[in-house]
Amino acid sequence: MTKRLFRHAARTAAYIREYLFPADCPICGGELLDSAEAWYGLCRPCSNALVISDELRCTSCGRPLISEQGQCLQCRNEEPHIFDGAFSIFPYTGKYRKLLSAYKFGKKLPLGNFLAEQLMEALEKLPPTASERVLVPVPPRPGKIRKAGWDQVAYLGSRLRTLGQPVYPCLKRLPSKSQKELDKADRKTNLKGKILCTKPAPNTVILFDDVITTGATLDACTTALKENGAEKVYGVCLFYD
Ligand SMILES: [Zn+2]
Ligand SMILES: [Zn+2]
Repeated sequence: MTKRLFRHAARTAAYIREYLFPADCPICGGELLDSAEAWYGLCRPCSNALVISDELRCTSCGRPLISEQGQCLQCRNEEPHIFDGAFSIFPYTGKYRKLLSAYKFGKKLPLGNFLAEQLMEALEKLPPTASERVLVPVPPRPGKIRKAGWDQVAYLGSRLRTLGQPVYPCLKRLPSKSQKELDKADRKTNLKGKILCTKPAPNTVILFDDVITTGATLDACTTALKENGAEKVYGVCLFYD
């Protein structure tokens, strides 16, 4: 309880600091000029330029298709995903990469407001209706939070809640290697049995995470959710790598 209170106080202090002394725009380095820019942590020209592209998307992982139809090459060459569909918002390159690193490593909390709104928009691209959707955060690796100092996915969840979106953290991750250190084949086996669903799963779930690479983490989370009662599980990710 004390720990939670302390976390809450630390978060509030960070917020106040951020709003009293707004940082510069992490994309162009320009000064943030008004309360709306400070709220999103981005200057208006940069936030207007960060748009969800309307390219055709892979029906499986939600990445934009290049010259393929239906499924992207990566999904076609792999075993089918266990999740029922996904939407991935921005490429993990250039200014989009800067955006994530300012949020994740620079802990620019106002960017959470911007990213949560992007997630809300992306939810419209998936089959579940607004009244069916329950969002479940992809759980962090134990130890990762200690190292990073915060859980940036859980924080996005708190912002989504303020936008009226139900968020239901019901997954737990047991110790395992970081997916980032592994190749494709090992990513699949690394998480076997390492994701637990700690409460009965909602019927229709949309998992959310920051980056999708092979989709192995979403698959492992889907397995746990489906074993605990979920019928349909989708994924929404801020960035695709
Ligand atoms: Zn800017
Ligand atoms: Zn795909």
